[in-house]
Amino acid sequence: AKELGRKRFAIFDEALAKGMVDVLAMESELRKALRQNEFEPYFQPICRLGDSRVVGYEALIRWNHPQRGLLRPSDFVKIAEDSGLIEAIDWRLFEVSCRLLAQQAPSEMFITFNVSALHLRHTDFDTRVLKMLDRTGLAPSRLITEVTEGALLDNPESVRAVLERLRTAGVGAALDDFGTGYSSLSYLHSLPLRMLKIDRAFVQELDKTGSSNSTTVVAAILALAHALNIQVIAEGIETQAQLQTLVSMGCEMGQGYLLGSPAPISHWTNVQKG
Ligand code: C2E
Ligand code: CA
Ligand code: CA
Ligand code: CA
Repeated sequence: AKELGRKRFAIFDEALAKGMVDVLAMESELRKALRQNEFEPYFQPICRLGDSRVVGYEALIRWNHPQRGLLRPSDFVKIAEDSGLIEAIDWRLFEVSCRLLAQQAPSEMFITFNVSALHLRHTDFDTRVLKMLDRTGLAPSRLITEVTEGALLDNPESVRAVLERLRTAGVGAALDDFGTGYSSLSYLHSLPLRMLKIDRAFVQELDKTGSSNSTTVVAAILALAHALNIQVIAEGIETQAQLQTLVSMGCEMGQGYLLGSPAPISHWTNVQKG
């Protein structure tokens, strides 16, 4: 048994060592990708649910890897976060996204981007955002930062202050993935939120049989948000039935494959020009 145990450790160590080599290789690839501009924002439309009209876009990062093709965040964001590289990658992406929206989308459309906990640790995050908006020519009222409840755990007071200063400057905030994770209702009234995004886990339950529980949860979230003057975006709408249910419940905005999948900006602007 002792022999076996040792062997198992040896195998484990090897796997661990290989994992570390992979991580190191990935880190240097990420650095190279940043230098060579291999990251690209994809835009997913956010629609008004009444008539499916596009009102804004969420910027989602993609990596055009020279060998492995188009990579999604699940393939690299974790390592980018652990190595601290996500900050440089995100700032580049945010700036490119804002510039593209300012130049190519109608002026009433907004853009949202995903802000991770690392960014919110910097008390000058708001100053950096405003400088970036200035450089790109995007009006502050057209930007919404998406934050998750997890990002608030560290230091809710300091995050609240950063978001409050952004709000004073006109930049909105959305609470992402609402209903998953920590879901402290106290965030809802203590944070300066313009929007709340209902996690797709609830949306995807809506058209299943015996879905009355998620219908109740979604109705409660809508009632609470509206009482607090927060607009609601439903995430991950994939079927007509989900869309119809959300419309009938009074949910104002949504996104999902039914309404449009993430795509390069040219896809959307070409569609608009007909
Ligand atoms: P998220 O912010 O919750 O983004 C929504 C994810 O759901 C996106 O995955 C989107 O492509 C996907 N999605 C959209 N509609 C549907 C649908 O109808 N059905 C299903 N099943 N999925 C749908 P994606 O692009 O792979 O992004 C995954 C996560 O990576 C995001 O989750 C966000 O947390 C993170 N992320 C994305 N872009 C960035 C970025 O620029 N910076 C940072 N730090 N994180 C990012
Ligand atoms: Ca998001
Ligand atoms: Ca989300
Ligand atoms: Ca998420």
